[in-house]
Amino acid sequence: MFIGHFAAGLATKKINASLSLALMFIAVQFLDILWPVLVLLGIETVGIEEGITKLTPLDFTFYPYSHSLLMAIVWGLLFGLVYYIVTKKRQNALILGALVVSHWFLDLVVHRPDLPLSPFSNYKVGLGLWNYPFAEILIEFALFFAGTYFYFTSKKPKKKIAFWSLIGFLLIVQLLNFYGPLPPDANSIAWGANLIWVFILWAWWVEREKPANTSASR
Ligand SMILES: [Zn+2]
Repeated sequence: MFIGHFAAGLATKKINASLSLALMFIAVQFLDILWPVLVLLGIETVGIEEGITKLTPLDFTFYPYSHSLLMAIVWGLLFGLVYYIVTKKRQNALILGALVVSHWFLDLVVHRPDLPLSPFSNYKVGLGLWNYPFAEILIEFALFFAGTYFYFTSKKPKKKIAFWSLIGFLLIVQLLNFYGPLPPDANSIAWGANLIWVFILWAWWVEREKPANTSASR
């Protein structure tokens, strides 16, 4: 799941238009932000196994700290708590924490049974929608279009070109994930995964407003 996670961030604008899209993108992708760092540090591992699922060749061999249910909840609590300490906005903190945890449940739908419940057990789950390309693409793209619709109808972006090019670029990267060339090794997957920050910065740029011009009042 890639654009499906971003869809959750976009759609949440409908619930609370004051939350920044960039921050919501960080929340929905928090586990995938941690993951490449942990892989590059050698703490978690990933392999490439062509055909392991029909849509992705990634073999998630060991990632209990970024992608177990227990740790997803822990990261969600921490994320919400830090936000609350900084801003004192309780409802926003709850929403952001829930978005962090949402990542695990969306991954649950598409991954084969490789998602651990906790770092302390070998029990792994996954419903394996990646093995049903037609249904997967239909559902994930539908989620994404719904998220885009909810965002667009809650906060008409002023920078229209920046917004629609972000949406278009996310779609292209999703298709490249599915149908692009196989990555050569685990390290290049992890380096590539860090590019998620491009979308976060892009979202920040879409919503950034020019500071009000105060020269008139002087
Ligand atoms: Zn993930």
